[in-house]
Amino acid sequence: MVSRGSGASHLSSGALDLADDPLAIAGHPEQVCRDIHQNLKQLLLRNSSHPYHLFLDSADPIGAILNPIQEALFQLFPAQGDFRLAGSFAQNRFALTALGTIKATAFTVEAMALLGDPCLQKPLVIGLEEYPDFDSGFWPQVAAPLFERMGAPMTGGQSSWIRVSDAPELSSPEIARLLEEAEAAERFCSAVQEEAKAFPGLTGVLLPAVLPFQNRNRLLARLLEVTGVPARELLGWPPSVPGLRLGLHLEDRLQRNGVGLIRGSVAGFEAAARKIHSVEVETAGGARKVEADRFVLASGSFAGGGLRKGKSFREPIFNLPVFCRDHVVGEIFTQKLTHEVISQPHLLFTCGLKADASLRPLGPEGEPVYENLAAAGAILQGSDPSRDGTGAGVALATGWRAGQSL
Ligand SMILES: Cc1cc2nc3c(=O)[nH]c(=O)nc-3n(C[C@H](O)[C@H](O)[C@H](O)COP(=O)(O)OP(=O)(O)OC[C@H]3O[C@@H](n4cnc5c(N)ncnc54)[C@H](O)[C@@H]3O)c2cc1C
Repeated sequence: MVSRGSGASHLSSGALDLADDPLAIAGHPEQVCRDIHQNLKQLLLRNSSHPYHLFLDSADPIGAILNPIQEALFQLFPAQGDFRLAGSFAQNRFALTALGTIKATAFTVEAMALLGDPCLQKPLVIGLEEYPDFDSGFWPQVAAPLFERMGAPMTGGQSSWIRVSDAPELSSPEIARLLEEAEAAERFCSAVQEEAKAFPGLTGVLLPAVLPFQNRNRLLARLLEVTGVPARELLGWPPSVPGLRLGLHLEDRLQRNGVGLIRGSVAGFEAAARKIHSVEVETAGGARKVEADRFVLASGSFAGGGLRKGKSFREPIFNLPVFCRDHVVGEIFTQKLTHEVISQPHLLFTCGLKADASLRPLGPEGEPVYENLAAAGAILQGSDPSRDGTGAGVALATGWRAGQSL
C-alpha cells in the first residue's frame, strides 16, 4: 500500500455507516427508519448511480451488498483485541454526538455513547477546561428533550468540568495523546472519580471524544474501577479522535496481515497497451518506482485528495475522467453542481470515477481505461460519502471486491 497520510476516514466520526434512511425528513428523527435492509432497498430505487448497484444480484440483492461488507469487517475488526466493533447488519443504532444530537449508524467501536443505553439514564457529563469544543453544561440541554422525544428519557444528569493539564487550550487529538501516558490517565480518572463522588445515583459517565488512541480500553476499565459505573465516549468531529483511531487501526491491521506500507505520494505512472506497469512514488527518501501486476486506486474523494477541481475536475494520478452521473464533468463552473441551500445535498459530492462490475474505471465511451486498474471507496461516483449514510459501506464493499479481483 502506498499512502501519503490521512484522508476522509481519519476525519470521519469513526462510526461505520452502511445505509441510512434515504427518506428521512430533517427535524423528525423519531420517524427515521433504522432497518438497514429497508434503507438499502429505498436507496437502490432512488439512486441509480450509487456504487451499491455494482453488486446487484437479482436472487439476493441485499445479501450481494452486505456479504462483502461482512467479509471485510471480519478481516479488519476481529472479535478479540483492542478495537472491537459493536452494531448490526440489520438495524442502525443512534450514536450520540458532541452537540447532543443523534446519528444513525450500523457499527461503532465498543463503549461509544448510544441512545437507549441504560447507563446514560442519569449520566455524569464531563467537560475538560482546556478543551473548549465540548460544552458539558450545554450538552444535556439539547440532549434531554431529544431523548424524551425518542422515547428514551434521561431521568437525571449532572455536568462537571475537570482539568488534566496546565495548557490553556488543547485539541482533542492532543488530549488523546496526553491520556496515552499512564500518569495523565490516572490524573484524569482521579478527577472524574472526585466529580462522581459528589453525584450519588449516577448510572454512567459520558465523555467527549478525547480518549487515547491505543490505551482506550485500559482507561475505560480504570474509570469503571474508580467510579463504579461504565463510561461512554461521544462521536467526534474533525479533528476527530475516533476517526484517527479508526485510521490507525486500519493501518495496523494491514501491517499485521503482511501488507507493506510505503509512506509517500503517487505522482506518476508508466503504462503501455492499456496496462499499468508501475507508479512513481515521492517519499521522504526520494522518488521510488513501484511495479505490480495489478493496482487499486483508493485515493478518496475531494477530502482525501483523490479528486481535484482546478480549471476542470480531475483525477490527478492516472488522469481518469471524472463523472457526474452519466456525464464527464470536465471544465464546468462548480456552482452548476451545488444546491443554493448549503444544507441540501450537492451533486458535486457525488462526482467520481465510473466503474464496471470489476471496478475498472471507465473512459468517456464506457470502456475500461486500463485492464489492471480497479478503483474502490469514495473515489467512485454516485454516493455522497459524508452525508448519505453509506460511506463505510461503499469503502468496505468495493475495497473487498477490488481485493478479490487482484
Ligand atoms: C467530515 C467527514 C465525516 C464523515 N463521517 C462519516 C461517518 O460518520 N460514517 C461513515 O461511514 N462515513 C463517513 N464519512 C465518509 C467516509 O469517511 C468516507 O467515505 C471513507 O472514509 C472513504 O474512504 P476511502 O478510503 O475511499 O478514502 P480516504 O479515507 O479519503 O482515503 C484516501 C487515501 O488516499 C491517500 N491519497 C490520496 N492521493 C494520494 C496520492 N497521490 N498518493 C498517495 N496517497 C494518496 C490519502 O492520503 C488517504 O490516505 C465522512 C466523511 C467526511 C469527509
